[in-house]
Amino acid sequence: MGHYVRAFTEGSKEQKDLLGGKGANLAEMTRLGLPVPPGFTITTEACRFYLATGTLPPGLEQEVEDHLAALELEMGRSLGDSDDPLLVSVRSGARFSMPGMMETVLDIGLNDESVLGLAAASGNERFAFDSYRRLLQMFGATVLGVDADAFAVELDKLKAERGTYADVELDAADLRGLVATFKEVIRRHTGRDFPQDPREQVHAAVLAVFSSWLTERAVVYRRQEQIPDDLGTAVNVQAMVFGNRGSRSGSGVCFTRDPASGAPGVYGDYLADAQGEDVVAGIRNTVHLTELEAIDKTSYDALLEVMRLLERHYRDLCDIEFTIEAGRLWILQTRVGKRTAEAAFRIAHAMVGEGLIDPDESLRRVTGGQLAQLLFPRFDRSAARELLTIGVGASPGATSGRIALTSARAATWGALGEDVVLVRRETNPDDLPGMIAARGVLTARGGKTSHAAVVARGMGRTCVCGAEQLDIDVERGEVMVSGHTLQEGDVVSIDGTTGEVFLGAVPVTDSPVLRHLEGSSPDEADELVAAVAFVMEHADRVRRLEVRANADTAEDAARARRFGATGVGLCRTEHMFLGPRRELVERLILAADDAAREAALAELQPLQRADFVELLREMDGLPVTIRLIDPPLHEFLPDHTELAVQVALEDSLGKRDERHHTLLEAVARLREQNPMLGLRGVRLGIVVPGLVAMQARAVLEAAADRVEAGGDPRPEIMIPLVATAPELALVRAQVEEMAGSIRADRGVELPVRIGTMIEVPRAALTADEVAQHADFFSFGTNDLTQLTWGFSRDDVEAAFFPTYRDRGILAASPFESIDVEGVGALVTSAADLGRQVRPELHLGVCGEHGGDPRSIHFFERAGLDYVSCSPYRIPVARLEAARARLV
Ligand code: ADP
Ligand code: MG
Ligand code: MG
Repeated sequence: MGHYVRAFTEGSKEQKDLLGGKGANLAEMTRLGLPVPPGFTITTEACRFYLATGTLPPGLEQEVEDHLAALELEMGRSLGDSDDPLLVSVRSGARFSMPGMMETVLDIGLNDESVLGLAAASGNERFAFDSYRRLLQMFGATVLGVDADAFAVELDKLKAERGTYADVELDAADLRGLVATFKEVIRRHTGRDFPQDPREQVHAAVLAVFSSWLTERAVVYRRQEQIPDDLGTAVNVQAMVFGNRGSRSGSGVCFTRDPASGAPGVYGDYLADAQGEDVVAGIRNTVHLTELEAIDKTSYDALLEVMRLLERHYRDLCDIEFTIEAGRLWILQTRVGKRTAEAAFRIAHAMVGEGLIDPDESLRRVTGGQLAQLLFPRFDRSAARELLTIGVGASPGATSGRIALTSARAATWGALGEDVVLVRRETNPDDLPGMIAARGVLTARGGKTSHAAVVARGMGRTCVCGAEQLDIDVERGEVMVSGHTLQEGDVVSIDGTTGEVFLGAVPVTDSPVLRHLEGSSPDEADELVAAVAFVMEHADRVRRLEVRANADTAEDAARARRFGATGVGLCRTEHMFLGPRRELVERLILAADDAAREAALAELQPLQRADFVELLREMDGLPVTIRLIDPPLHEFLPDHTELAVQVALEDSLGKRDERHHTLLEAVARLREQNPMLGLRGVRLGIVVPGLVAMQARAVLEAAADRVEAGGDPRPEIMIPLVATAPELALVRAQVEEMAGSIRADRGVELPVRIGTMIEVPRAALTADEVAQHADFFSFGTNDLTQLTWGFSRDDVEAAFFPTYRDRGILAASPFESIDVEGVGALVTSAADLGRQVRPELHLGVCGEHGGDPRSIHFFERAGLDYVSCSPYRIPVARLEAARARLV
C-alpha cells in the first residue's frame, strides 16, 4: 500500500485529518456499500509536504499512476481511450468543509479523441461535447489560471446567438463549436494548447487543488472560521458519473432534515440534465427534491433509503450530493450538515427522542453561540409593514439594513458601522468579505443549498435567497421589485425564517426562547422552546461551575435570577455614586477637613444601604459579591479642560465662582497621567479615610435589615486591585471591625465573606500570601489581561489589533477570549497557590470572559467554582459550563 495515496476502499470517517472530510466520508460510504463511484484520495500529508517545499513528495507521481491503473482495471475503461474512455474528477477536500472555497475539476480525461469515444459509447454527441466544454472551462480557469469570465462571455454570446438563456438548449453542433472556441480562449490566454494527455491533466489538476489552499478567498474564509492555516487539503480522484446525459439524468443536493428549522422531512434541490456544480451555482433554477419522485421514482426511493441509512449511521443531520445517470443513483459526497441555531437545538432534542443520541451528546450538538443567536429579536408581527416579495428563508434572524449591491460596497459601509443587507443575484466565494460585513444576505437565485445559504448559515448571518422577483441592476445601482424601484442605500428588512422581504426598517420583538429562559412564557408547544428547555435542563444537571451575574442594580439581579444565575458575582458600587449623588461625592472629595468629609460620607451611607437592601432581597439565599469602589475619584468630577474654560470665562466676565475655583484645584490635583495605574481600587480605601468604613457599613447594615426582615442575605465584600497581602489585611481589618460593631449594635448574626479580586499580576504571583486574608478570589480578567500584556484595552483594540491579527501574532483578542498560555497560567497558578494555604478558598471569575464560551471551558479545566457574567449571557454560560465538562 502506498504512502501518500489511499483507495476509497481503505479509509473510514475517522480519518478526516489524513483524508480530509470529503475523502474520509467517501471511504466510509464505500465501506457501507453505497453506490459511490470508485476512486482514491491523495492525503493531506502530501499537500503539506508540497506547501512546505514547493515540490511533490518523492514517489507520489508513481503512486498516483498505480492507483489510476487500478481504477482503469476496475472500471474496465481507460483514460483517453478512443472507444469508451474513463473520465475522472479531481476534487479538493480539507479536514474542515470550506464550501466553494477550493477547486474541483470534472470530466478530466477528455481530449479531441476521447470525446469522440464518449460520444460513440454513450450514443449522445451533445453530452460528450457538453462534458468537454465543461472540462475546458473548469481546467482553464482553475488549473491554467484563465479568467473564468473569458469562458462565460463566449457561452453567453453563443446563447444569445441561439436566442436562449438555457445551456440545455444548445445542441451538439453548438457545443462542438464552443469546444473549439474555448480551446482558442486557452491558447490566447496561456500561449499554450490545452493539454491533450489525460495523465498530464490529472497531475496538473492535483497541483492546482493543492495550491488552491493558498488562494486569498480560502485564507479569508479560514480566518473567519478559525480554521488553522497549516492543515492543507486532500485531493480525491474519482471516476466520473454523468448527470448531464439527458432528461433521465440529473444532479442534486439534499439534507436528511430541514437545515434551516430542523423539522423532519426531505429537503433538497434537484436539477435535471446537469452536472453537480450547476446545482449550487444557481445557473438554472432547481426544483424541490420531492418533485424527483414524479420524474424518477426508483432513484427517488433509493435516495430516501440512502438518506435514512446515512442519518442513522452518522447519528446526525447529513448533507448529501448525488447524481443520477440514466436512471441510476450515485452518491458523491456526504458530510454532517451545517445548520442554523434553531435546527441545531431541534435536531439534538429530536434525536434524543428517537434514541439516536443520549442527552450528553445533545449538549455537544449545540453551542452557546447558537443559543445566543436564538435570543435575538424577531420582526414584530403586529407592526405595519409592506411586503416586497418572498424568497426562501435560508438562515434565520430578522435584520434591516441598507441595500449594498456589491461585496465591496457592503464591506465599505459595514466598516463604517452601517447596517447593510448584501443584495446579489447569487453569491460566489468572492462575495465573502461583503457577507462578513453585512447583517443579512438577500439573493434572487438559488435555494437552501446555494452558496449564499450555506455560507450565511455557517456565519450566523440572516439570509433570504431565491427571491426571484428581484430584478437587480448593479450598473444603475437599482433593484426593481413589485413595482418599486429601490436605490442602493435604501433600507430593506429580511426575515430569514419566513423568507419575507419588507420595505424599510420593520420593528422587532423578543424571541420566544428569550421569553422562555426568562421564565415569562412557558410555551412548550413551540418545538424550538421545548428543545431549548430540554437541553438547558440537562446542562444544569451536567455542569459543575456555578453561574453568577454581574449586576449592579436590583433590577439586573432579578433578571439574572430569572435567567438562572445562582448569585451575583460582581456588583460595582461606583454606579451608586452617579446621578444626583454626584454632588455628595464632590463634597466628599473637596472636604476641607475630617468633619466635612464625614458629613458627606454620612449622607451617602444610607443611600447605598437602601440599594443593597434591594439587591440582597432579590438575591435572597444566594451570594452577592459587592465590590468596594474601584475607579479613580476624579472620574466623578467634571472634565479638567471643560471646567478650566468655564472658570476662565466666568472670571473674564467678572462672575468669579468660588466653588468652581475650588473644584478646579481639586480636579487639577487629582489629575493623573495614567489613571488606570493610579489612585484607584484598594488604594483609595487606604488613602481616603472613612471610605471603606462607609461602604462596609452600608453593606452590613443592609444585611442586618434583611435578617431582621426574616431574609437570608449572603453578602460578600470584595476588595479590588489588591497587589500585596498587607493591603488586603488592612482593609479586611476595617471591614471586620465594622461587622463586629454592627453585630453588637443590632444583635443579629451577620454572615459575611471578605475576599479580593485577583487582577494585578503581583497578587496572582503572591496568591499564597494574599489568600491568608481572603475567603475568596475573584479573577478580574479584564484588568489582569491589560496588566499582563501591558495593553490598554481602549487604545490597542483599534490601534493595532487588526495588524496583529493579520500578521498572525494574535489569533483572537485576549479581551474576548482568555489568553490561556499567559493570563490563564497566572489564573491557574494563583488558584493553586491560594488553595495550598486555604483549601476551602472559593474561586471565581468576574471579567467579560465569564460569558465567553472558550474562556468558560478554560475556567472549568482550571477548577474554578464559578463564573460571573452579564445577565443576558447567563444561559450561554450555563450551557457552555456543561459542555466544558464533556469534552
Ligand atoms: P465542493 O467541495 O465545492 O462541493 P466537489 O468536489 O464536491 O466540490 O465537486 C463539485 C461538484 O461536482 C459536486 O456537485 C459534485 O457532486 C460534482 N462531482 C464531483 N465529482 C464527481 C464525479 N466523480 N462524478 C460526477 N460529479 C462529480
Ligand atoms: Mg461538494
Ligand atoms: Mg478591575
